[in-house]
Amino acid sequence: MAEEPKLADDTNESCENITKYPKLPPAPEGMSKSQWKKVWKKQQQLANKDKYAKIRKEKKQKAKAAYKERIQQYLDRGEEIPDDLKKTPRVNVNQKDSGIQIIIDCAFDELMNDKEIVSMSTQISRAYSSNKRQNHFAKIKVTSFNGRLKQRFEEGLHDANHQAWKNFEFVEDAKLPTENAIYLTADVDEKLEELEPGMTYIVGGIVDKNRYKNLCYDKAKELGIPARRLPIGEYIKLCGRKVLTTTHVIQLMLKYFDNKDWKEAFESVLPQRKLQNDTATEES
Ligand code: SAH
Repeated sequence: MAEEPKLADDTNESCENITKYPKLPPAPEGMSKSQWKKVWKKQQQLANKDKYAKIRKEKKQKAKAAYKERIQQYLDRGEEIPDDLKKTPRVNVNQKDSGIQIIIDCAFDELMNDKEIVSMSTQISRAYSSNKRQNHFAKIKVTSFNGRLKQRFEEGLHDANHQAWKNFEFVEDAKLPTENAIYLTADVDEKLEELEPGMTYIVGGIVDKNRYKNLCYDKAKELGIPARRLPIGEYIKLCGRKVLTTTHVIQLMLKYFDNKDWKEAFESVLPQRKLQNDTATEES
């Protein structure tokens, strides 16, 4: 998924054609130096957009060629291709309906900075691609899709075609169900034992680096619906915080339906680098 272009860096040889930012000109009147620095950087990034796109394309092509070569080496040796090198098909044609609905509650637009909005849009796109690839899919709805996140999809990601995504719905409305619905949050003691078809599981659509503890818990209380945490500690050892990203929570729920086994889901979804010595930490 495309991330924000990184700043030019003279240690990266493919960036050598891009000059580092020119010296920061004096700030226009009425603007602080730090504000001006941000605006100036943004202007420079826009000016270099095409070059960055070219570099990204070249990097992608190189990675693709390297991948092909590795596969070919296995084939040449007549060896089986290891599972971790096999690509998951983009669309899983044998998918089954999990029977659950997942809502990504995006009513927290104004609590995120621009970078976090970009990250949230990437997370939604990843959730969509997981929902196409995993063995089970859910009906996923994004609510309160009416602010900067929407703008990001419509302007920043204009080729996303998100309105046509299968099993995915974007609505401006903030209304959340109160019947057969559970709000997921890391901030409660009560754990989610199992996922049940017919239920709606609401996940907070926010990246906040834990600035807003209890945000979703308070919302669940306001709505008068139960709030539950994933049973992480019960199945894998964790050091530190147990707040996962919206995408990981969705991927875990989908994976759970493979064998109705949380442990298996945690081990499969949470990245290896985060599972050191049977332990994992993750930040939202
Ligand atoms: N401060 C936010 C954290 C956002 S993390 C909050 O109040 O929730 C993004 C979302 O992922 C959360 O809103 C929650 O729905 C879900 N989530 C993250 N970690 C979780 C966990 N351990 N158990 C259940 N849900 C979790």
